[in-house]
Amino acid sequence: MQIAIDGPAGSGKSTVCKMLANRYGLTYLDTGAMYRAATWFSLKFTDEDLPRRLEAVDFIFSENGRRLALSKDGETWDVTAAIRTPAISGAVSRVAANPRVRAVLTEKQRKYAEGNDVIMEGRDITTVVLPGADIKVFLTATAEERAKRRFAEWEGKPEAPSYEEVLESIKRRDEADSSRPCSPLKRADDAALLDTTGLTLEQVAEHIGRMIEAERGGN
Ligand code: C5P
Repeated sequence: MQIAIDGPAGSGKSTVCKMLANRYGLTYLDTGAMYRAATWFSLKFTDEDLPRRLEAVDFIFSENGRRLALSKDGETWDVTAAIRTPAISGAVSRVAANPRVRAVLTEKQRKYAEGNDVIMEGRDITTVVLPGADIKVFLTATAEERAKRRFAEWEGKPEAPSYEEVLESIKRRDEADSSRPCSPLKRADDAALLDTTGLTLEQVAEHIGRMIEAERGGN
């Protein structure tokens, strides 16, 4: 079974997908983490011919998608924490707008899905990566609600940005991700729209869980 979930930053995709992956024994794939890791790679090494260099990079998920390491030419880097910094969040949309980078990562994402029961989340999973998925959902919420969720994740951390900075960064990313010519963030006509404003993420997971159960039951 293939489940594709798209939506903007902070719409609840990651939390909900992890809950569902545990409950239904699915392989979880966070494609945003791959674009973030590609951005980390370009900042650490070079932007020069990034797509070609990325082809030779292995993206290694572990702990069912919770950790990510990159491996190339015998060297391995665990990038789990490094890809969540504001610097990466600020730079990722530029890297993700490159059509050749997208082609390389899309191919890797489809390979993960082959022969597996997957739940994959991102911006173009329902439209480009797995348009034939069994279940397709577009999650959304107001920018303020999404910023509140992201801000809460930073709580207690010394390097935490302010709420206003988080909101500003989310709005900038929404604009960049929705307006790029290649695979922009948009709802597929046949994806279910779920507005998560005012819902708990548990309620969102239950809603999609019912869709999975209906699909498994052959409805
Ligand atoms: O999901 P997350 O917010 O971590 O994604 C980071 C960025 O990666 C997004 O803002 C977007 O620019 C890019 N992305 C993408 N296509 C995907 C997943 C993420 O362009 N399928």
